[in-house]
Amino acid sequence: MDLFSAHAVSKQYANHKALDNVTISVPDSHIFGLLGPNGAGKTTFIRIINQIIAPDEGELIFMGRKLQPNDIAHIGYLPEERGLYKKMAVGEQAMYLAQLKGLSHHEAQTRLKYWFEKFEIKGWWNKKVEELSKGMQQKIQFLVTIIHDPKLLIFDEPFSGFDPINANLLKEEILAQKEKGTTIIFSTHNMSSVEELCDDIVLIDRSKVILSGDMRNIKKTYKTNTFEVSYNTCDDALQSILPAEFQVLSESRDVDHRNAQIKLPAGSTPNDLIRSMLPFVTIYSINEKIPSMNDIFIQAVTQQSPDPEKQD
Ligand code: ADP
Repeated sequence: MDLFSAHAVSKQYANHKALDNVTISVPDSHIFGLLGPNGAGKTTFIRIINQIIAPDEGELIFMGRKLQPNDIAHIGYLPEERGLYKKMAVGEQAMYLAQLKGLSHHEAQTRLKYWFEKFEIKGWWNKKVEELSKGMQQKIQFLVTIIHDPKLLIFDEPFSGFDPINANLLKEEILAQKEKGTTIIFSTHNMSSVEELCDDIVLIDRSKVILSGDMRNIKKTYKTNTFEVSYNTCDDALQSILPAEFQVLSESRDVDHRNAQIKLPAGSTPNDLIRSMLPFVTIYSINEKIPSMNDIFIQAVTQQSPDPEKQD
């Protein structure tokens, strides 16, 4: 079942259509990557889900019925541009924000105590926000985003400003949220975190959805029957010992071995490749080249027709 879906959503700013007939389904308890180049319309879409702005057309369905103003209580949103009041004490501010989310004073105190202990930041409670580094402030913002146990969490570039250790802590917490049944929409340009975390993705380019679905299935459809082979050095160029229809895309050399990327014609298997190489070389490894989300993003976006606004 989908926790959230948007059907044929469009949004026009004065002279720019920011979203054009966008349909997106976010399955329950999945991590959903909202991807796209700068200016694609991602922030506009996130603002629409958060009911900060309204769409011109289209329908938004949350928990099986139309999205309503008070659904905001079930949503946690960490915007990309985030700020805390610099002069206020950390604990006081966290209490204030937690109560804004509808928690009682007692409940806010209990939950914040749990999170401050879990994130090992108890010592920060009485510090002023301005005494914390940017990364430390983001940790506070992350935990007040999840404090009210929302059904849907929306993170916009959650890892920006975090060192690798804290980014890992955040990743683990995002996965823990998914494990307990929370649905997560996650917008980023960091494709390695998309690979690590996302179940499904949508790619928006120039206001339109150009790719969507299960990330593993998408990767499968972008495979090109290309294999990376590591083998011992041989005197001849690899292409000269292979049938012409086996296309050597690249060759490189490391300390002990040569490595090559070889694209096979449709219907050929790695066994065919191994058979044709074996009389000439020793093979150390062979792996299928699975396209990265970075490759897929670039390929999908650059295959679109040129942007008329960017033409001379
Ligand atoms: P993204 O988050 O994918 O970078 P945005 O949703 O922020 O993209 O913006 C999409 C497009 O809409 C951009 O061209 C942006 O300049 C334009 N835009 C965003 N907000 C406004 C606004 N309030 N008024 C006019 N144009 C806007």
